[in-house]
Amino acid sequence: MSKAEPRPGALDPVALDRIITDIVAPAAEEIDRTGAFPRAALNALGRAGLLGLISSPDVGGRGESHRAATLVVERLATACASTAMVVCMHYAATAVVEAHGSLAVREAIASGEHLTTLAFSEKGSRSHFWAPTSTATQTESGVRLDAQKSWVTSAGQADSYVWSSRPLAADGQSTVWLVPAETAGVTIPFQFDGMGLRGNHSSPVNAEGAFVPAENMLGADGDGFNIMMGIVLPYFQLMNAGFSIGTMETATTKAARHVTGTKLEHLDQSLADLPTIRAYLSRMRIKTDMCRALLTDSLTALEGGREETMLRVLEVKAAAGEASTEVTDMAMRVCGGAAFRKEVGVERNFRDARAATVMAPTTDVLYDFIGKAVCGMPLFG
Ligand SMILES: Cc1cc2nc3c(=O)[nH]c(=O)nc-3n(C[C@H](O)[C@H](O)[C@H](O)COP(=O)(O)OP(=O)(O)OC[C@H]3O[C@@H](n4cnc5c(N)ncnc54)[C@H](O)[C@@H]3O)c2cc1C
Repeated sequence: MSKAEPRPGALDPVALDRIITDIVAPAAEEIDRTGAFPRAALNALGRAGLLGLISSPDVGGRGESHRAATLVVERLATACASTAMVVCMHYAATAVVEAHGSLAVREAIASGEHLTTLAFSEKGSRSHFWAPTSTATQTESGVRLDAQKSWVTSAGQADSYVWSSRPLAADGQSTVWLVPAETAGVTIPFQFDGMGLRGNHSSPVNAEGAFVPAENMLGADGDGFNIMMGIVLPYFQLMNAGFSIGTMETATTKAARHVTGTKLEHLDQSLADLPTIRAYLSRMRIKTDMCRALLTDSLTALEGGREETMLRVLEVKAAAGEASTEVTDMAMRVCGGAAFRKEVGVERNFRDARAATVMAPTTDVLYDFIGKAVCGMPLFG
Protein backbone atom coordinates (compact mmCIF):
# COMPACT_ATOMS: atom_id res chain seq x y z
CA MET A 1 0.00 0.00 0.00
CA SER A 2 1.35 3.44 -0.88
CA LYS A 3 1.77 6.06 1.84
CA ALA A 4 -1.05 8.20 0.44
CA GLU A 5 -3.65 5.46 0.73
CA PRO A 6 -5.67 5.41 3.96
CA ARG A 7 -5.27 2.31 6.09
CA PRO A 8 -8.33 0.04 6.02
CA GLY A 9 -11.06 1.34 8.30
CA ALA A 10 -9.33 4.67 8.91
CA LEU A 11 -10.36 8.15 7.84
CA ASP A 12 -10.62 8.38 4.06
CA PRO A 13 -10.07 12.07 3.20
CA VAL A 14 -11.22 11.53 -0.39
CA ALA A 15 -14.62 10.25 0.74
CA LEU A 16 -14.89 13.16 3.17
CA ASP A 17 -14.02 15.70 0.49
CA ARG A 18 -16.58 14.18 -1.87
CA ILE A 19 -19.34 14.61 0.74
CA ILE A 20 -18.19 18.18 1.37
CA THR A 21 -18.18 19.04 -2.34
CA ASP A 22 -21.42 17.24 -3.25
CA ILE A 23 -23.59 17.81 -0.16
CA VAL A 24 -22.15 20.09 2.54
CA ALA A 25 -20.97 23.06 0.45
CA PRO A 26 -24.03 23.34 -1.83
CA ALA A 27 -26.37 23.42 1.21
CA ALA A 28 -24.37 25.88 3.34
CA GLU A 29 -25.97 29.14 2.20
CA GLU A 30 -29.51 27.87 2.58
CA ILE A 31 -28.74 26.40 6.01
CA ASP A 32 -27.42 29.81 7.04
CA ARG A 33 -30.47 31.61 5.62
CA THR A 34 -33.19 29.30 6.95
CA GLY A 35 -31.56 27.73 10.01
CA ALA A 36 -32.29 24.25 8.63
CA PHE A 37 -30.50 21.36 10.33
CA PRO A 38 -27.85 19.75 8.07
CA ARG A 39 -29.60 16.37 8.01
CA ALA A 40 -28.54 15.36 4.48
CA ALA A 41 -24.88 15.91 5.35
CA LEU A 42 -25.19 13.91 8.56
CA ASN A 43 -26.88 11.05 6.73
CA ALA A 44 -24.05 11.01 4.19
CA LEU A 45 -21.37 11.21 6.89
CA GLY A 46 -23.12 8.37 8.74
CA ARG A 47 -23.24 6.18 5.62
CA ALA A 48 -19.55 6.84 4.98
CA GLY A 49 -18.63 5.69 8.50
CA LEU A 50 -17.64 9.19 9.57
CA LEU A 51 -20.09 9.49 12.47
CA GLY A 52 -18.46 6.33 13.82
CA LEU A 53 -14.98 7.75 13.24
CA ILE A 54 -13.79 7.59 16.85
CA SER A 55 -15.84 4.53 17.82
CA SER A 56 -13.84 1.41 18.50
CA PRO A 57 -13.51 -1.20 15.72
CA ASP A 58 -14.89 -3.66 18.33
CA VAL A 59 -18.31 -2.04 17.90
CA GLY A 60 -17.93 -1.39 14.16
CA GLY A 61 -16.27 2.03 14.30
CA ARG A 62 -13.20 3.45 12.58
CA GLY A 63 -11.02 3.47 15.69
CA GLU A 64 -9.67 6.95 15.07
CA SER A 65 -8.89 9.55 17.69
CA HIS A 66 -8.24 13.27 18.25
CA ARG A 67 -6.24 13.98 15.09
CA ALA A 68 -8.73 12.51 12.64
CA ALA A 69 -11.73 14.02 14.44
CA THR A 70 -10.07 17.44 14.37
CA LEU A 71 -9.32 17.09 10.67
CA VAL A 72 -12.92 16.19 9.85
CA VAL A 73 -14.25 19.19 11.79
CA GLU A 74 -11.70 21.52 10.17
CA ARG A 75 -12.55 20.37 6.65
CA LEU A 76 -16.30 20.60 7.26
CA ALA A 77 -15.84 24.13 8.63
CA THR A 78 -14.34 25.27 5.34
CA ALA A 79 -17.75 24.64 3.77
CA CYS A 80 -20.43 24.80 6.49
CA ALA A 81 -19.69 25.82 10.07
CA SER A 82 -23.06 24.55 11.32
CA THR A 83 -22.35 21.04 10.04
CA ALA A 84 -18.83 21.18 11.48
CA MET A 85 -20.08 22.12 14.97
CA VAL A 86 -22.80 19.45 14.98
CA VAL A 87 -20.13 16.85 14.17
CA CYS A 88 -17.73 18.36 16.73
CA MET A 89 -20.33 17.95 19.49
CA HIS A 90 -21.19 14.45 18.27
CA TYR A 91 -17.55 13.36 18.56
CA ALA A 92 -17.09 15.04 21.97
CA ALA A 93 -20.13 13.19 23.32
CA THR A 94 -19.18 9.96 21.56
CA ALA A 95 -15.85 9.94 23.38
CA VAL A 96 -17.74 9.73 26.69
CA VAL A 97 -20.12 7.05 25.40
CA GLU A 98 -17.15 5.03 24.12
CA ALA A 99 -15.54 5.15 27.58
CA HIS A 100 -18.65 4.53 29.68
CA GLY A 101 -21.73 3.81 27.55
CA SER A 102 -23.72 0.68 26.76
CA LEU A 103 -22.77 -1.63 23.93
CA ALA A 104 -26.08 -0.95 22.15
CA VAL A 105 -25.55 2.82 21.98
CA ARG A 106 -21.89 2.45 21.06
CA GLU A 107 -22.87 0.15 18.16
CA ALA A 108 -25.61 2.52 17.03
CA ILE A 109 -23.13 5.44 16.94
CA ALA A 110 -20.53 3.36 15.12
CA SER A 111 -23.08 2.36 12.48
CA GLY A 112 -23.81 6.03 11.75
CA GLU A 113 -27.43 5.77 12.84
CA HIS A 114 -27.19 7.60 16.13
CA LEU A 115 -26.32 11.27 16.56
CA THR A 116 -25.34 12.40 20.03
CA THR A 117 -24.30 15.71 21.60
CA LEU A 118 -23.27 17.41 24.84
CA ALA A 119 -25.80 18.96 27.22
CA PHE A 120 -23.51 20.54 29.81
CA SER A 121 -24.12 24.33 29.90
CA GLU A 122 -26.90 25.43 32.20
CA LYS A 123 -28.97 28.51 32.96
CA GLY A 124 -27.66 28.50 36.55
CA SER A 125 -23.92 28.09 36.14
CA ARG A 126 -23.84 29.39 32.54
CA SER A 127 -20.42 28.85 30.89
CA HIS A 128 -19.02 27.22 34.08
CA PHE A 129 -20.06 23.81 32.78
CA TRP A 130 -18.00 21.97 35.39
CA ALA A 131 -20.43 23.12 38.11
CA PRO A 132 -23.97 22.08 37.12
CA THR A 133 -26.85 23.25 39.30
CA SER A 134 -29.33 20.75 37.83
CA THR A 135 -30.28 17.69 39.86
CA ALA A 136 -30.50 13.90 39.71
CA THR A 137 -32.66 12.20 42.33
CA GLN A 138 -32.96 8.48 43.02
CA THR A 139 -36.61 7.39 43.11
CA GLU A 140 -38.39 4.04 42.99
CA SER A 141 -39.11 4.56 39.28
CA GLY A 142 -35.53 5.36 38.33
CA VAL A 143 -33.39 8.47 38.34
CA ARG A 144 -35.29 11.73 38.05
CA LEU A 145 -33.52 14.56 36.20
CA ASP A 146 -34.50 18.21 36.52
CA ALA A 147 -32.54 20.77 34.57
CA GLN A 148 -32.50 23.95 32.56
CA LYS A 149 -29.79 23.38 29.95
CA SER A 150 -28.98 26.69 28.28
CA TRP A 151 -27.43 25.56 24.99
CA VAL A 152 -27.46 22.14 23.36
CA THR A 153 -26.18 21.80 19.80
CA SER A 154 -28.48 19.52 17.77
CA ALA A 155 -31.29 19.98 20.33
CA GLY A 156 -34.34 18.09 19.11
CA GLN A 157 -32.27 16.53 16.31
CA ALA A 158 -29.82 14.31 18.20
CA ASP A 159 -30.82 10.83 19.37
CA SER A 160 -29.25 11.31 22.79
CA TYR A 161 -27.72 13.89 25.09
CA VAL A 162 -24.58 13.37 27.17
CA TRP A 163 -25.93 15.25 30.16
CA SER A 164 -24.46 16.61 33.39
CA SER A 165 -26.14 16.99 36.76
CA ARG A 166 -25.12 17.32 40.36
CA PRO A 167 -24.25 13.90 41.81
CA LEU A 168 -26.96 11.54 43.02
CA ALA A 169 -25.33 10.83 46.38
CA ALA A 170 -21.57 10.95 45.98
CA ASP A 171 -19.22 13.84 46.69
CA GLY A 172 -17.97 15.74 43.66
CA GLN A 173 -19.35 18.46 41.42
CA SER A 174 -21.17 16.41 38.82
CA THR A 175 -22.37 13.13 37.36
CA VAL A 176 -22.81 12.42 33.64
CA TRP A 177 -25.79 10.61 32.09
CA LEU A 178 -26.93 9.39 28.72
CA VAL A 179 -30.40 10.85 28.18
CA PRO A 180 -32.33 9.49 25.18
CA ALA A 181 -33.84 12.41 23.26
CA GLU A 182 -37.36 10.98 23.44
CA THR A 183 -37.32 10.81 27.27
CA ALA A 184 -40.66 12.09 28.63
CA GLY A 185 -40.20 15.40 30.43
CA VAL A 186 -37.34 16.57 28.15
CA THR A 187 -38.50 19.63 26.23
CA ILE A 188 -37.13 22.44 24.09
CA PRO A 189 -38.60 25.73 25.36
CA PHE A 190 -37.70 27.72 22.25
CA GLN A 191 -35.82 27.23 18.99
CA PHE A 192 -32.33 28.57 18.31
CA ASP A 193 -32.08 31.73 16.18
CA GLY A 194 -28.42 32.80 16.38
CA MET A 195 -26.27 35.29 14.52
CA GLY A 196 -24.05 32.46 13.29
CA LEU A 197 -23.97 28.65 13.20
CA ARG A 198 -27.57 29.07 12.23
CA GLY A 199 -28.16 25.41 11.33
CA ASN A 200 -26.81 24.26 14.64
CA HIS A 201 -30.10 24.04 16.56
CA SER A 202 -28.31 25.09 19.78
CA SER A 203 -31.54 25.56 21.70
CA PRO A 204 -32.09 25.35 25.44
CA VAL A 205 -33.34 21.98 26.71
CA ASN A 206 -35.32 21.54 29.93
CA ALA A 207 -35.91 18.42 31.97
CA GLU A 208 -38.82 18.36 34.39
CA GLY A 209 -39.32 15.02 36.07
CA ALA A 210 -37.44 13.22 33.28
CA PHE A 211 -36.70 9.64 34.30
CA VAL A 212 -33.73 7.60 33.09
CA PRO A 213 -32.64 4.14 34.27
CA ALA A 214 -29.75 4.09 36.77
CA GLU A 215 -27.67 2.21 34.14
CA ASN A 216 -27.65 5.38 32.03
CA MET A 217 -25.10 6.88 34.38
CA LEU A 218 -21.85 7.35 32.40
CA GLY A 219 -18.94 6.64 34.74
CA ALA A 220 -19.29 6.76 38.50
CA ASP A 221 -21.55 9.00 40.55
CA GLY A 222 -19.63 12.22 41.26
CA ASP A 223 -17.01 11.51 38.61
CA GLY A 224 -18.34 14.03 36.07
CA PHE A 225 -15.48 16.46 36.55
CA ASN A 226 -12.91 13.82 35.57
CA ILE A 227 -14.96 12.86 32.51
CA MET A 228 -15.31 16.51 31.47
CA MET A 229 -11.65 17.34 31.93
CA GLY A 230 -10.08 14.02 30.98
CA ILE A 231 -12.23 12.93 28.05
CA VAL A 232 -14.32 15.81 26.73
CA LEU A 233 -11.95 18.75 27.13
CA PRO A 234 -9.07 17.51 24.91
CA TYR A 235 -11.45 16.44 22.13
CA PHE A 236 -13.52 19.61 22.32
CA GLN A 237 -10.60 22.03 22.50
CA LEU A 238 -8.71 20.47 19.60
CA MET A 239 -11.76 20.10 17.37
CA ASN A 240 -12.92 23.61 18.20
CA ALA A 241 -9.51 24.91 17.13
CA GLY A 242 -9.93 22.90 13.91
CA PHE A 243 -13.32 24.56 13.45
CA SER A 244 -11.74 28.02 13.80
CA ILE A 245 -8.88 27.17 11.44
CA GLY A 246 -11.28 25.84 8.79
CA THR A 247 -13.27 29.06 9.08
CA MET A 248 -10.12 31.21 8.75
CA GLU A 249 -8.88 29.16 5.82
CA THR A 250 -12.05 29.59 3.80
CA ALA A 251 -12.34 33.32 4.61
CA THR A 252 -8.74 33.85 3.46
CA THR A 253 -9.32 31.91 0.25
CA LYS A 254 -12.52 33.80 -0.57
CA ALA A 255 -10.94 37.17 0.20
CA ALA A 256 -7.91 36.42 -2.00
CA ARG A 257 -10.21 35.32 -4.83
CA HIS A 258 -12.27 38.50 -4.50
CA VAL A 259 -9.37 40.94 -4.46
CA THR A 260 -7.54 39.27 -7.35
CA GLY A 261 -10.72 39.13 -9.46
CA THR A 262 -12.06 42.62 -8.73
CA LYS A 263 -10.91 45.65 -10.74
CA LEU A 264 -10.55 49.37 -10.19
CA GLU A 265 -11.25 49.91 -13.86
CA HIS A 266 -10.24 53.59 -13.98
CA LEU A 267 -6.74 52.58 -12.79
CA ASP A 268 -6.64 49.27 -14.68
CA GLN A 269 -5.69 47.57 -11.40
CA SER A 270 -7.13 44.80 -9.27
CA LEU A 271 -7.74 45.28 -5.56
CA ALA A 272 -4.77 42.93 -5.06
CA ASP A 273 -2.53 45.55 -6.69
CA LEU A 274 -3.00 47.67 -3.55
CA PRO A 275 -0.15 46.96 -1.07
CA THR A 276 -2.50 47.62 1.88
CA ILE A 277 -4.86 44.87 0.71
CA ARG A 278 -1.96 42.45 0.23
CA ALA A 279 -0.65 43.23 3.72
CA TYR A 280 -4.02 42.36 5.28
CA LEU A 281 -4.08 39.08 3.34
CA SER A 282 -0.58 38.37 4.53
CA ARG A 283 -1.65 38.87 8.14
CA MET A 284 -4.64 36.58 7.61
CA ARG A 285 -2.36 33.89 6.16
CA ILE A 286 0.17 34.21 8.99
CA LYS A 287 -2.47 34.00 11.74
CA THR A 288 -4.09 30.96 10.11
CA ASP A 289 -0.77 29.18 9.68
CA MET A 290 0.38 30.02 13.23
CA CYS A 291 -2.80 28.48 14.62
CA ARG A 292 -2.42 25.41 12.41
CA ALA A 293 1.16 24.95 13.64
CA LEU A 294 -0.01 25.25 17.26
CA LEU A 295 -2.82 22.77 16.59
CA THR A 296 -0.43 20.27 14.99
CA ASP A 297 1.95 20.61 17.94
CA SER A 298 -0.94 20.23 20.41
CA LEU A 299 -2.04 16.99 18.73
CA THR A 300 1.55 15.72 18.73
CA ALA A 301 1.93 16.66 22.41
CA LEU A 302 -1.24 14.74 23.27
CA GLU A 303 -0.27 11.69 21.23
CA GLY A 304 3.22 11.63 22.73
CA GLY A 305 2.02 12.29 26.30
CA ARG A 306 4.24 15.38 26.53
CA GLU A 307 4.33 17.25 29.83
CA GLU A 308 2.83 20.45 28.42
CA THR A 309 -0.15 18.69 26.81
CA MET A 310 -2.76 20.29 29.08
CA LEU A 311 -1.29 23.75 28.52
CA ARG A 312 -1.38 23.24 24.74
CA VAL A 313 -4.97 21.93 24.92
CA LEU A 314 -6.02 25.05 26.82
CA GLU A 315 -4.05 27.38 24.55
CA VAL A 316 -5.11 26.09 21.18
CA LYS A 317 -8.84 26.87 21.37
CA ALA A 318 -8.19 30.34 22.79
CA ALA A 319 -5.57 31.11 20.14
CA ALA A 320 -7.55 29.80 17.18
CA GLY A 321 -10.91 31.18 18.36
CA GLU A 322 -9.53 34.70 18.80
CA ALA A 323 -7.49 34.55 15.59
CA SER A 324 -10.55 33.49 13.62
CA THR A 325 -12.50 36.55 14.76
CA GLU A 326 -9.55 38.73 13.68
CA VAL A 327 -9.02 36.96 10.35
CA THR A 328 -12.69 37.05 9.40
CA ASP A 329 -12.83 40.72 10.43
CA MET A 330 -9.89 41.41 8.09
CA ALA A 331 -11.70 39.44 5.35
CA MET A 332 -14.65 41.81 5.77
CA ARG A 333 -12.33 44.81 5.50
CA VAL A 334 -10.36 43.76 2.42
CA CYS A 335 -13.52 42.78 0.54
CA GLY A 336 -15.09 46.17 1.29
CA GLY A 337 -18.79 46.85 0.78
CA ALA A 338 -19.05 43.68 -1.31
CA ALA A 339 -18.41 41.71 1.90
CA PHE A 340 -21.17 43.55 3.73
CA ARG A 341 -23.60 41.93 1.30
CA LYS A 342 -23.62 38.15 0.98
CA GLU A 343 -21.98 37.92 -2.47
CA VAL A 344 -18.40 37.23 -1.32
CA GLY A 345 -19.48 34.82 1.41
CA VAL A 346 -17.12 36.04 4.12
CA GLU A 347 -19.83 37.67 6.24
CA ARG A 348 -21.13 34.18 7.06
CA ASN A 349 -17.61 33.19 8.19
CA PHE A 350 -17.40 36.42 10.23
CA ARG A 351 -20.64 35.55 12.06
CA ASP A 352 -19.86 31.85 12.48
CA ALA A 353 -16.33 32.47 13.80
CA ARG A 354 -17.57 34.36 16.85
CA ALA A 355 -19.16 31.27 18.42
CA ALA A 356 -15.81 29.66 19.23
CA THR A 357 -14.82 32.49 21.56
CA VAL A 358 -17.91 32.08 23.76
CA MET A 359 -18.23 28.32 23.67
CA ALA A 360 -17.16 27.01 27.06
CA PRO A 361 -14.47 27.10 28.20
CA THR A 362 -14.74 30.63 26.77
CA THR A 363 -11.63 32.50 25.68
CA ASP A 364 -11.67 34.63 28.82
CA VAL A 365 -11.98 31.61 31.10
CA LEU A 366 -9.12 29.96 29.16
CA TYR A 367 -6.98 33.09 29.60
CA ASP A 368 -7.60 32.80 33.34
CA PHE A 369 -6.75 29.06 33.39
CA ILE A 370 -3.62 29.55 31.28
CA GLY A 371 -2.54 32.49 33.46
CA LYS A 372 -2.98 30.31 36.54
CA ALA A 373 -0.98 27.50 34.90
CA VAL A 374 1.80 29.94 34.01
CA CYS A 375 1.88 31.19 37.61
CA GLY A 376 1.88 27.65 39.03
CA MET A 377 -1.54 28.14 40.64
CA PRO A 378 -4.30 25.47 40.76
CA LEU A 379 -6.74 25.86 37.83
CA PHE A 380 -9.86 25.35 39.97
CA GLY A 381 -10.10 26.75 43.47
C1 LIG B 1 -23.40 28.16 18.92
C2 LIG B 1 -23.25 27.59 20.29
C3 LIG B 1 -23.39 26.24 20.50
C4 LIG B 1 -23.28 25.70 21.78
N1 LIG B 1 -23.43 24.36 21.96
C5 LIG B 1 -23.36 23.84 23.21
C6 LIG B 1 -23.54 22.43 23.42
O1 LIG B 1 -23.74 21.66 22.48
N2 LIG B 1 -23.48 21.96 24.69
C7 LIG B 1 -23.24 22.76 25.75
O2 LIG B 1 -23.19 22.26 26.87
N3 LIG B 1 -23.06 24.10 25.59
C8 LIG B 1 -23.11 24.64 24.34
N4 LIG B 1 -22.95 26.00 24.16
C9 LIG B 1 -22.79 26.85 25.34
C10 LIG B 1 -21.38 27.34 25.53
O3 LIG B 1 -20.51 26.25 25.77
C11 LIG B 1 -21.32 28.34 26.69
O4 LIG B 1 -21.73 27.74 27.88
C12 LIG B 1 -22.16 29.55 26.43
O5 LIG B 1 -21.90 30.08 25.15
C13 LIG B 1 -21.88 30.61 27.48
O6 LIG B 1 -22.78 31.67 27.30
P1 LIG B 1 -23.35 32.46 28.55
O7 LIG B 1 -24.20 33.55 28.04
O8 LIG B 1 -23.93 31.50 29.53
O9 LIG B 1 -21.96 33.04 29.12
P2 LIG B 1 -21.63 33.60 30.57
O10 LIG B 1 -21.16 32.49 31.44
O11 LIG B 1 -22.77 34.42 31.05
O12 LIG B 1 -20.36 34.52 30.27
C14 LIG B 1 -20.46 35.92 29.91
C15 LIG B 1 -19.04 36.46 29.77
O13 LIG B 1 -18.35 36.32 31.01
C16 LIG B 1 -17.10 35.70 30.79
N5 LIG B 1 -16.73 34.89 31.97
C17 LIG B 1 -17.47 34.00 32.63
N6 LIG B 1 -16.78 33.44 33.62
C18 LIG B 1 -15.55 34.00 33.61
C19 LIG B 1 -14.37 33.83 34.38
N7 LIG B 1 -14.32 32.98 35.40
N8 LIG B 1 -13.30 34.57 34.04
C20 LIG B 1 -13.34 35.45 33.02
N9 LIG B 1 -14.43 35.66 32.25
C21 LIG B 1 -15.51 34.93 32.53
C22 LIG B 1 -17.31 34.81 29.58
O14 LIG B 1 -16.07 34.54 28.93
C23 LIG B 1 -18.21 35.69 28.73
O15 LIG B 1 -17.43 36.58 27.98
C24 LIG B 1 -23.04 26.55 22.88
C25 LIG B 1 -22.87 27.92 22.66
C26 LIG B 1 -22.98 28.45 21.40
C27 LIG B 1 -22.81 29.92 21.20
